[in-house]
Amino acid sequence: MPAAPIAHAEDLADFVDASPSSYHAAAEVARRLETAGFARLDEADAWPETPGKHLVVRDGAVIAWVVPASAAATTPVRVFGAHSDSPGFKLKPQPTTGRLGWLQAGVEVYGGPLLNSWLDRELRLAGRLVLDDGTAVLADSGPLLRLPQLAIHLDREANDGLALHRQAHTQPVWGLGAPESADLLAELAASATVDGAPVDAGRIRGFDLVTADATRGAVFGRDDALFAAGRLDDLASVHAGVVALSRVADGFDGDHIPVLAVFDHEEIGSATRSGAAGPFLEDVLERIGLALGADRGERMRALASSWCVSSDVGHSVHPNYADKHDPVVQPVLGSGPILKVNANQRYATDGAGSAAWHGWCGAAGVHSQEFVSNNAVPCGSTIGPITATRLGIRTVDVGIPILSMHSARELAGVSDLFDLARVAEAFFAGASA
Ligand code: ZN
Repeated sequence: MPAAPIAHAEDLADFVDASPSSYHAAAEVARRLETAGFARLDEADAWPETPGKHLVVRDGAVIAWVVPASAAATTPVRVFGAHSDSPGFKLKPQPTTGRLGWLQAGVEVYGGPLLNSWLDRELRLAGRLVLDDGTAVLADSGPLLRLPQLAIHLDREANDGLALHRQAHTQPVWGLGAPESADLLAELAASATVDGAPVDAGRIRGFDLVTADATRGAVFGRDDALFAAGRLDDLASVHAGVVALSRVADGFDGDHIPVLAVFDHEEIGSATRSGAAGPFLEDVLERIGLALGADRGERMRALASSWCVSSDVGHSVHPNYADKHDPVVQPVLGSGPILKVNANQRYATDGAGSAAWHGWCGAAGVHSQEFVSNNAVPCGSTIGPITATRLGIRTVDVGIPILSMHSARELAGVSDLFDLARVAEAFFAGASA
């Protein structure tokens, strides 16, 4: 494996490590782009009417864009979309629980995780704490929790079909003692700072905290072809978008506006104020248009010639389960990013989108593959159809092929991660569709 894709994967491992929750991911995207010269705006403020590089964070979502000096009222946008959340567990109210000498955490299932994959690994608890004055602070416990599997001696049928009860069997341990003597939120408060000092746990009025695999991502396998980490769905796409936007932003003078849109809550249906079905992207695009003096007609003209590339992970063919895949179209991890196709439009890709995607891949010198489901095994969906339905922008659904989707730790191909970022860069730079 050449050095550049390995360096990209190692940088993704850093990115995943810094992003155990959607709130951390949005903050890490903002931090990286601010380092690249982007100015952070607040939605409650008036925004500058000057061109340039800007970003705005809304809870666990973030949108960043570059308005070139030549932009006019009808200048189209090129949106690269992805999501910041992953399936797992979210902390319940009154979270400090336990019995029989064990401390446990009360958790609720978030999205559709592979429950068994969360067993027997050290887990972080991370997200935001909201304090008595409304301040939101990021908190990350580091390795703290574990969901211990029942020993084979006590469950002789475990290898014939593991059945996990979604409530009784999913409450992780995090120490020893009586729950009355412990405070899980105090552990989180100790990891967070406000004005340089640790947070006083008594000030916590609300929280949004999720679990994440505590082990750093790793490159491995023959020729360093494989990469495993938590939250590759969909931080692999978020990271590719950040890398691509950073590369094209300096001195950008194209005839469109590159936009990176990272949404929260994709795993639970996207219907939130920071999800793809909410108004966040529409709000930002409208404000960009207003700054350019666009009236409603000009805004619609701009959208009519815009594009959205919605990037999320898809399924590589699995050597142990060949019958789960289409008998002909069989993308394999390591052979390039995927174009996702579905007759029932669970992916927004159509003929025009396919043609455009192949144009951008050609400009980047990247080989791409196609994904389509076996008719007997329906596929999932993603943000593409939602964005297309909301805004009417031409949209294509793409991503990278992975195995173990929705596991606590997923498997990707090192070269695919690198190639996705290259296509995103060509798309942002203005390669023709
Ligand atoms: Zn996803």
